[in-house]
Amino acid sequence: MTKCDRCKVREAIVFQHHTGLRLCKECFMDDLRQRVLQQVRKYRMILPGDRVLVGVSGGKDSYVLLKILSEIHDSSKIIGVMIEEGIRGYNRSEVFNYMKRICNALNIDCILTSIKEELGYSVDDFMELQLKKFGRIEISACTYCGIARRRILNIYARRYGADKVATGHNLDDEVQTYIINILRGDIMRLLQLHPLSNVHSKLLVKRIKPLRAVYEYETAFAAYLDNFRFQESECPYIVQRPTLRARLREVLNELERVKPGTQLRFLQEIDMLLEPFVETQNRNNLTLPLCTRCGEPTAPGRKLCKFCELIDTVIGMTNIEA
Ligand code: SF4
Ligand code: ZN
Repeated sequence: MTKCDRCKVREAIVFQHHTGLRLCKECFMDDLRQRVLQQVRKYRMILPGDRVLVGVSGGKDSYVLLKILSEIHDSSKIIGVMIEEGIRGYNRSEVFNYMKRICNALNIDCILTSIKEELGYSVDDFMELQLKKFGRIEISACTYCGIARRRILNIYARRYGADKVATGHNLDDEVQTYIINILRGDIMRLLQLHPLSNVHSKLLVKRIKPLRAVYEYETAFAAYLDNFRFQESECPYIVQRPTLRARLREVLNELERVKPGTQLRFLQEIDMLLEPFVETQNRNNLTLPLCTRCGEPTAPGRKLCKFCELIDTVIGMTNIEA
């Protein structure tokens, strides 16, 4: 039996690549909790008394997020929101019932809603509408699904008086997104990703990612150690072609293999590098314009928000942007 490198008492069951340590379950979970706490404190993500709304997808990341948040914050101030996408062949009721039981055990209130109920068109509705209009798929289901879910989380955060919206994005997600924005030269989005960036509208609730310094393999392992039931069915719209994100994931995993800790170091460096620019941008007091259709905030210089634009495109009022 190999002893845990940290407590030197219990049996080591996980090898942490980026530290080179072999840890027992307790020390491993404690290390994740400490890394989350470090991010939460450093970037003032959650203040005492904050109401935190958590987007619960039913996957390993949202499970680990709920669990750690309930350990570091008052669980009566945490609300889980599960959003049914409305996709045939992707039955979510079993997963959502399971997540509801987990929330109950953690003493967290949990709400179930759907894209159709809140915004009028499920993901399937959106795909059918565009097939009817164009005879082919021009806009991916994931584009609509992601925008709709983000919109609903923000609406619910306002409705329930939440101070923050927390999502389960992990370190791998965050590093990929940083690099994608660098490759696209999208400075605005790059700065928005930084945990200190302000929201630019009273209608937007600040989004936080407490797991952003925790590797994906670590959330998977943490969930596995708790006997978390992973959802077996896969969304039929999942993208099979190699997207930029999927390619980046491969490259970054390879770099991690050769030089463990690469992604964690990248995150620390880029956070530090961007901080002065984020502070300057925060001082600019930019206020986003409101969508002329729905009244939600939209990007500078735009009349419609992304959501209304997507709906307009498939029901025939505007053309698809190149
Ligand atoms: Fe939504 Fe795409 Fe995920 Fe399916 S794969 S649930 S469409 S984001
Ligand atoms: Zn709108």
